Amino acid sequence: MSESIDKDLIRQLLDGTISDDDVQRLQRMPYKDADRFWQYLEVLQDSVPWDEKILLRLNDHLYVVRDKSGNRIVKCDCGHEYGDYRINWKLQSLVRVRKTLDEFKQVYSPEPACPEPEWQEIREFYCPNCVAQLAVEVVPPGYPIVFEMLPDLDRFYRDFLGKPLEDESSNWYEDRSEDLLAKWGQEVK
Ligand SMILES: [Zn+2]
Repeated sequence: MSESIDKDLIRQLLDGTISDDDVQRLQRMPYKDADRFWQYLEVLQDSVPWDEKILLRLNDHLYVVRDKSGNRIVKCDCGHEYGDYRINWKLQSLVRVRKTLDEFKQVYSPEPACPEPEWQEIREFYCPNCVAQLAVEVVPPGYPIVFEMLPDLDRFYRDFLGKPLEDESSNWYEDRSEDLLAKWGQEVK
């Protein structure tokens, strides 16, 4: 299998146009091609309209990228930037909260599948720029915003990919969401 075919297959895998036969062929390869992750990153990079280097994809629209100043930030495929990837990007998104049975019924069917109002609420997170829906969480009212993914990028690149990032540092892997919440707390005092 040539490299170009591989990369094209990965592109088809990502955009959902890959054939069932090719999926099985990829799954059944006795040895996975060692450079598949790098090809995956190349396909992702080709698919976005900006050129900050993608370090990892977080979901359908969001990526951890290295920006021009060397910061690791979360960026939407539309170009909107959420800042430091160690701070939960949801804190910088648009949030819609559904609390009533009528609001639940708009997104759940049949009705018995709905969460119980007052015991649960549905939080929908949207990009402030392109308004893509980025995440949904169903949690008890008052529950902290769920930080879905804080990847240990240095360890992933060094130990699993064998290519350490050039800006390794022990403080890349820490949740800094509290810093933003504390700053907001100061501002409303
Ligand atoms: Zn966006």
